[in-house]
Amino acid sequence: MNANAHIEAVFDETRRRNPAEPEFHQAVAEVLESLGPVFERHPEYAATGILERLCEPERQLIFRVPWVDDSGAVRVNRGFRVEFNSALGPYKGGLRFHPSVNLGIVKFLGFEQIFKNALTGMAIGGGKGGADFDPKGRSDGEIMRFCQSFMTELHRYLGEHTDVPAGDIGVGGREIGYLFGQYKRITNRYESGVLTGKPVGWGGSHVRTEATGYGAVFFAHEMLATRGLGFDGRRVVVSGSGNVAVYAVEKVHALGGRVVACSDSSGYLVDEAGIDLELLKEIKEVRRERIAAYTEARPGASFSARGTVYDVPCDIALPCATQNELAREDAVALVKNGVRAVAEGANMPCTPAAVQIFRDAGVLFGPGKAANAGGVATSALEMQQNAARDTWTFAQTEARLASIMREVHTQCRETATTYGGNGDDYVLGANASGFLRVAEAMTAQGVI
Ligand code: NDP
Repeated sequence: MNANAHIEAVFDETRRRNPAEPEFHQAVAEVLESLGPVFERHPEYAATGILERLCEPERQLIFRVPWVDDSGAVRVNRGFRVEFNSALGPYKGGLRFHPSVNLGIVKFLGFEQIFKNALTGMAIGGGKGGADFDPKGRSDGEIMRFCQSFMTELHRYLGEHTDVPAGDIGVGGREIGYLFGQYKRITNRYESGVLTGKPVGWGGSHVRTEATGYGAVFFAHEMLATRGLGFDGRRVVVSGSGNVAVYAVEKVHALGGRVVACSDSSGYLVDEAGIDLELLKEIKEVRRERIAAYTEARPGASFSARGTVYDVPCDIALPCATQNELAREDAVALVKNGVRAVAEGANMPCTPAAVQIFRDAGVLFGPGKAANAGGVATSALEMQQNAARDTWTFAQTEARLASIMREVHTQCRETATTYGGNGDDYVLGANASGFLRVAEAMTAQGVI
């Protein structure tokens, strides 16, 4: 069987065995479509079933999460943890609390995580988890009780050498604190390295909170530099207004760019003077309100519940909200308005049709696996500090992050060139280099 026929057969079988999981199929297709040239050169990977094994998680956990709300009513949610691949290290990947979470979503995220983590060059495997719990409008007490119940079940599968979760949508420092507290109580161990994204005062790493957003901007900066461009004086649009988005805005401003629009799931706001970051943080992180509240304090800004943030003309777009939020028509609008680069701060925010539009138009496109790898890379730095009982300074940690993102960028370009694409094909570069690192380790470790 030739390389492409082998890859297609694996994809067909993966779809057949995992019905009704469209996001998982999309994530698998996106990787497999890049691997033809890799299998041409490495037929041994077909012979040892590497792809078949990669597409099947090592372990999938689904569990009941019962909790009591503030009115005394019993609520039941569904918890997930997919431990996808441990060839390079303990399973590593965040927890997402959002009503849309289901097994297919967790598998898409876990699958992506394998290659992203490999790309960072750190010793971390791939996993992901979460629950179909909606934190919106919930009190602190409800959030705490939910996190405690979630960890009461999940703790038996975790460990600093086994599986190390972190945050994702709906899971930030507050939730990590409650999860860690319950893990510590049940196990009677202060195992700092079992979760990352902890607050800095008790085992967290400087820059972890900022890392995904900063990293995406560093990656975009590297891409732009290949064309002699930078952020200075550029108009930038960022989708979302959560953890990744906020720190992407911060770093764009630090590099001289101007973020003129951002969003949440209720709509988007435009502030031609540049987004006021302190105000945005106050509304989203402290008051936990909808983004429209921003315009009350900034009369020059406007809010729209219709259309998308991508209707706003910009030079650089950073999708930092959620999967499949940037569709074909958004890509068409961005290209028409002259966008030069798009870097995915979120996981799989651009649909395949949108990515094709960017490629056809020659827009620099940084896929999430590479562009948002700074978050998990800094989680790995947090694990290093925990293991050594050490704390690095903000400046030291940010310098490590910047150098990791430069290295990820270089590796993408070099691998893309080696496997027949041009250096601008970051999708090929990210998928192929992540795959090769995992495949080599899996081969060495035998059929397990
Ligand atoms: P947060 O929960 O902090 O923020 C998510 C943001 O996206 C919120 O502003 C939310 O709005 C918005 N959003 C969600 N759905 C939509 C939608 N359909 N349309 C518009 N906006 C939407 O999550 P994070 O910032 O942590 O995560 C964002 C993305 O980045 C996810 O794809 C995540 O997987 C990815 N990522 C995160 C990492 C991290 O370190 N946190 C690491 C790598 C990737 P609202 O407030 O209305 O819900």
